[in-house]
Amino acid sequence: MKTLIKGIHHITAIAGNPQANVDFYSGVLGLRLVKKTINFDAPDVYHFYFGDEFGAPGTVFTTFPFAGARKGTKGTGELTYTAFSIPKTSLEYWIERLKKYDVTVSDKLTRFGKELIRFEDHDGMGIELVANDEDDRKGWTYGQIPLAHSIRGFYGATLYLTDKEGTADLLTKHMDYHFIAEENGRFRYGTEGKPGDIVDILVNPDASRGQQSAGTVHHLAFRTENTDTQLQIQQLLWDNGYQTTEVKDRNYFKSIYFRSPGGVLFEIATDEPGFAIDEEEAHLGELIKLPEWAEPSRKKIEAGLIPVTLNPASYV
Ligand code: ZN
Repeated sequence: MKTLIKGIHHITAIAGNPQANVDFYSGVLGLRLVKKTINFDAPDVYHFYFGDEFGAPGTVFTTFPFAGARKGTKGTGELTYTAFSIPKTSLEYWIERLKKYDVTVSDKLTRFGKELIRFEDHDGMGIELVANDEDDRKGWTYGQIPLAHSIRGFYGATLYLTDKEGTADLLTKHMDYHFIAEENGRFRYGTEGKPGDIVDILVNPDASRGQQSAGTVHHLAFRTENTDTQLQIQQLLWDNGYQTTEVKDRNYFKSIYFRSPGGVLFEIATDEPGFAIDEEEAHLGELIKLPEWAEPSRKKIEAGLIPVTLNPASYV
């Protein structure tokens, strides 16, 4: 059967200081800064995209960094942990590496038979590294991390909800997801059940709602092949009572947004055209790229942004 949704496209979080954000995701975690642009809905704020070499869908963690933003709080109605996939034998490497940069790392946890570690970035953003041997993506490195240990892309995401029914229905009835397994109140869904498409719903009816600010996720984007399949999903969602936005042009993909029943903002983003449309692949992320409509205001926009430097080599 032809599916319209192929897993996770990107995850977008709110962050604090932009330099600290680049240092952590490119320096410590070793993701490639594939695009340095602005928030199209708030052009005075950066939008950073971190991913693999070309920012393939399923690898891209993106941030809106607000210098001086207060920290948000984790709670229900949020995506609380973003899980990245690492090779099965790389867990010890990452524990050592994170400790070297003063990151407080959890003990090794086991979930659905796989070992993982959990930690937070300087803003309190929840991250997990899941060790597995099911990921055939090759990873990427600036050189400071051996390629053999590099992050492969997303493993999955945890949605923390007071009630799973509405979101589970949406995923399984209209978004090509199926239920995989349950463990300790954690309900796992996937399109194929492979790294990059896993969505877990963790239920706690009594927990308080999260507060969105620095260190919390803004939205979860799912991938679809192209604008045709995107319009098909939009129609399907409308037919089933979900209100979506119109299609928005995000330059590197096209997007629709809608609020999932559990409270998390969902997006459906196209795999096309990708991050090489306005920069050569060898130089992704080096310059501030703006959408055409913002170019006339470039001077003013750049003057309002804190300059950031990309310096992964100092995170050996
Ligand atoms: Zn997005």
